[in-house]
Amino acid sequence: MRVLASEIDGLELPAVEKISNSQERDPFQVLIATLLSARTQDATTLAASTRLFKVARTPKTMAKLTVKQIEKLIYPVSFYLHKARHVKATCRMLVDRFGGRVPTRMEELLMLPGVGRKTANLVLILAFKSLKNICVDTHVHRISNRLGWVKTRTPDETEQALYATTAARWWPYINLYLVTWGQNVCRPVYPRCGACAIRPYCPQMGVTRVSK
Ligand code: SF4
Repeated sequence: MRVLASEIDGLELPAVEKISNSQERDPFQVLIATLLSARTQDATTLAASTRLFKVARTPKTMAKLTVKQIEKLIYPVSFYLHKARHVKATCRMLVDRFGGRVPTRMEELLMLPGVGRKTANLVLILAFKSLKNICVDTHVHRISNRLGWVKTRTPDETEQALYATTAARWWPYINLYLVTWGQNVCRPVYPRCGACAIRPYCPQMGVTRVSK
């Protein structure tokens, strides 16, 4: 993690991280951007979030948009029809049940439509500065297994295993470091092992082909 901390300096940051930094860690914008980011290229997430936030920046104003309007604003993020419905329903619940604010507890975040542990953990880490959560997405799951930190089949299993196998001081940074590394070096197919700064520490578990 110490090597990664210096290596990611200067690399392109993940989209939600950029939005969080530029919006002073606004919990609502972190939540919505994370909802949009699932299985979507970072540039697409960033552009879609920017369009949406230009029209509505609060749960109250966004809840007033129709699903059709949200669809048009967030297209072409993947599953935009689904995501538009979730965004609308989440905003409605934030207004009706949580006084127009993003809740700060995991159990409450998980009540929001479309919000799973990945999104909830990222909101807690980025917006509420939690030091007790690890956000596991597909990059974190893949790289933790390649590094041999865990041996798991799903991101949820990986999250629980990482609490046991990593030092707590790194938990809030695991997502940022591994997502950035996953987008730039330890890619899903043909990872760039020859150019990887953490190669001396990596048993390359499950890696069969690497980039030339
Ligand atoms: S050595 Fe290869 S598999 Fe291991 S972290 Fe680096 S790029 Fe990923």
